Amino acid sequence: MKSEIKTAKFGGSSVADAIQIQKIKHIITSDPSRKYIVVSAPGERFKGDNKITDLLYLCKTHIDHNVPYDQIFQVICDRYTAMEAGLGVNTGLAGRFDEIRARLQSGATSDYIASRGEYLNAVIIAAYIGFDFVDAEGIVLFDQKGKFLFEDTNEALRAELAKHKRAVLPGFYGSKPNGEIKTFSRGGADISGAVVARASGAAVYENWTDVSGFLMADPRIVHNPKAIGAISYKELRELSYMGASVLHESAIYPARLANIPINIRNTNAPEEPGTRIIAETVEENGSIITGIAGNRDFTVINVYKNMMSSELGFIRRLLSILENYGIPVEHVPSGVDTVSVVVANAYLNDKLGDVLEDFERRIQPDSIEVFENMSLIATVGGRMASRPGVSAKLFAALYGAGVNIRMIDQGSSEMNIIVGVENRDFETAIRAIYEAFVGGGEPEKSADSPVLAD
Ligand code: ASP
Repeated sequence: MKSEIKTAKFGGSSVADAIQIQKIKHIITSDPSRKYIVVSAPGERFKGDNKITDLLYLCKTHIDHNVPYDQIFQVICDRYTAMEAGLGVNTGLAGRFDEIRARLQSGATSDYIASRGEYLNAVIIAAYIGFDFVDAEGIVLFDQKGKFLFEDTNEALRAELAKHKRAVLPGFYGSKPNGEIKTFSRGGADISGAVVARASGAAVYENWTDVSGFLMADPRIVHNPKAIGAISYKELRELSYMGASVLHESAIYPARLANIPINIRNTNAPEEPGTRIIAETVEENGSIITGIAGNRDFTVINVYKNMMSSELGFIRRLLSILENYGIPVEHVPSGVDTVSVVVANAYLNDKLGDVLEDFERRIQPDSIEVFENMSLIATVGGRMASRPGVSAKLFAALYGAGVNIRMIDQGSSEMNIIVGVENRDFETAIRAIYEAFVGGGEPEKSADSPVLAD
């Protein structure tokens, strides 16, 4: 029988104050299958606002440096107090604040302090919507070294959730065998949501945020790009690798493992369907591509050597030179007698001269060409593999826009074509590709929403 359960995780901006929490109550109660709710700590109410998690870390830093932290702590207390007043609930906050203050003073770890943002929020939200509060401590499990215990957590969560018809859980943290609180890395409430979705056997993992899912291109570059209705896990991985950041990377794994689709939704526009992240690419939007993403500031080094392909270990030696300098390589497209390496300028720093000298000495190429200030643009789409003429269309679009292509790399999965262009052509190239494959924009989308939501 198909599961009737939905797990809904609400990110920081969705639970930033009483007004937002009223919205999430409406969302939760409008669909009784939303049984298990995971919440972040209160995030930004407006651009530039403080996130509670940041303030909590700040308190800890002040304590560590013997600097008074009371004012910052008071700002935190005031936010929760105002929230309770706005929602008309009383969870005995004063006592909870006293306990956290006492723990701060007696040397609590920064993980413990940071986790209180989610803890207090979940207690208040549970009281407000009338669900049970289920603490993550003792259920979301890490080993003593801090490694997340995926299967043990699944078992413990499953046993606990069976006792509650409906519950609110704090995201972001769990505990070690000795009881010490341990957090995931920043943004980790997404992971908590995913493990709760898995343990509760949810039919869908809803990830509620402040944008209506992902857009096909960066709206700062392409005017009104279309929204992505559905994207496969693999496509998402390719797009996020190229700079689009959304979900915590590790949040995808548990949902994928349990074969649960993820649905990115907008708390401020719950009528919009958002983006679904699913196992396989589907035909949608009438476009062969799913999205375009890119990054600036790479260097492409082209190396030519006659009969290179028959010289044993050539590429290994070339790569080991970069490895010796601690420079990771992004791409290595190659031809018969040529190979290119693409590296991010951030890693290359001032080492380029030394690297080239080593190339000359150790692999004795016929010539080397270097293009600095390059951008990489990935055009991603699982449906591209089965269609002839996709690259021809892409290259024709760039040619038509007067953009010089310095490098081409098509992954063996054929769901991704990466081109290297000069930084100054970056935006022109993205617009040209978008026009060629997608064409005309959609009705208004907020101008500052990122390619992929956070
Ligand atoms: N509150 C935590 C953070 O700001 C975790 C989360 O919201 O995902 O990183």
